[in-house]
Amino acid sequence: MKKQKGSVWVIAEQIDCQVLAVSLQLIGHARKLAMELETSAEVVLLGDQIDEQTQQLFAAGVDKVYLGNAPELAFYQPEIYAEIIVKLAKDHLSAIMLIGSTSMACELAPLVAARLETGLTAHCIDLVLDENKIPAYGGLMSIICPDKCLQMATIAAGVFPNPHPDDSRTGEIVPLEVPDDIPRLIQTLEVVREKPEGVSLESAPIVVAGGAGAGGLEGWGKIADLAKVLNAALGSTRPAVDEGWTELETMIGQSGKMINPELYIGVGLSGELQHMVGIVGARVMVAINSDSKSPVFEQVDYGIVDDCREFVPVLIEKIKEHQEKRVTC
Ligand SMILES: Cc1cc2nc3c(=O)[nH]c(=O)nc-3n(C[C@H](O)[C@H](O)[C@H](O)COP(=O)(O)OP(=O)(O)OC[C@H]3O[C@@H](n4cnc5c(N)ncnc54)[C@H](O)[C@@H]3O)c2cc1C
Repeated sequence: MKKQKGSVWVIAEQIDCQVLAVSLQLIGHARKLAMELETSAEVVLLGDQIDEQTQQLFAAGVDKVYLGNAPELAFYQPEIYAEIIVKLAKDHLSAIMLIGSTSMACELAPLVAARLETGLTAHCIDLVLDENKIPAYGGLMSIICPDKCLQMATIAAGVFPNPHPDDSRTGEIVPLEVPDDIPRLIQTLEVVREKPEGVSLESAPIVVAGGAGAGGLEGWGKIADLAKVLNAALGSTRPAVDEGWTELETMIGQSGKMINPELYIGVGLSGELQHMVGIVGARVMVAINSDSKSPVFEQVDYGIVDDCREFVPVLIEKIKEHQEKRVTC
């Protein structure tokens, strides 16, 4: 393959040897960028007992896998992971480095960017090449960094679609050594995972999202009940998180999650851009808001003008009645 400038890299992430969906989505997009830039798409994967995962990465679209496969790398270790990636980036020409916007990336990406003395655009919701084929990261506004050869970005899950795997694709595997001379001030010894409750936002066919209009914990509880009765995932806007009614993990939007449900129901929220960018992939959108002039109504398919604290309990009862009827039929 003809290489013009540097290649397009993805720093992939795995948990329990499962490559994260966001890493595969970034690989799919890296493939497209690499074709446009006439270069190769390459991936760095670190972990333990992950040889078998390389085929999945080739099938998703990469040409080369830098594989760190050792017990010391089983869990994410910030200093070792950063050192390996920084050394690799210095030894090989990488023009664009993409990392899924995960908790790991929140720490690892700035560590790597600082050591490579380059910029980092965090939590992007889009990535395109401008007319000079320079990446423009961002979404709501573009950040272009033409003076640095290596450009780094973290990108939220769901921004790019899952690539269609092509199992006939293969590529080169470059094994990596684990450096043994790195000061290890932080060491992950064990990972204890909390079992996620309810339906996951990213994969849920129905999402009920609540906003400031819930008015308090009682109102929020009713929105959560609506989600439960519809077997939907519960999402939120930033004020609902700031008020402590729900966890940060439920926030949808520019600083939260990107979702693609079949049905989105926004309750007591105004449809601010920073929230709505998270639901551009939704198929049918409904809003419940007491203000008939709320901008949310211009952005949804169906609007209900009512006080959500009164309307939602009635809606729940109606849904339950309907569900019972279906069971007895
Ligand atoms: C850099 C940046 C990043 C951000 N990222 C995000 C993000 O990722 N996600 C996010 O959500 N926000 C984000 N925000 C915040 C965002 O700009 C908005 O402030 C937020 O989305 C508004 O939330 P809301 O619609 O719940 O509240 P509001 O805008 O206050 O709207 C509340 C709505 O509820 C309605 N209402 C009031 N009472 C009732 C009632 N009883 N029944 C029915 N309706 C009622 C009102 O008419 C109003 O329309 C970000 C902001 C910044 C600056």
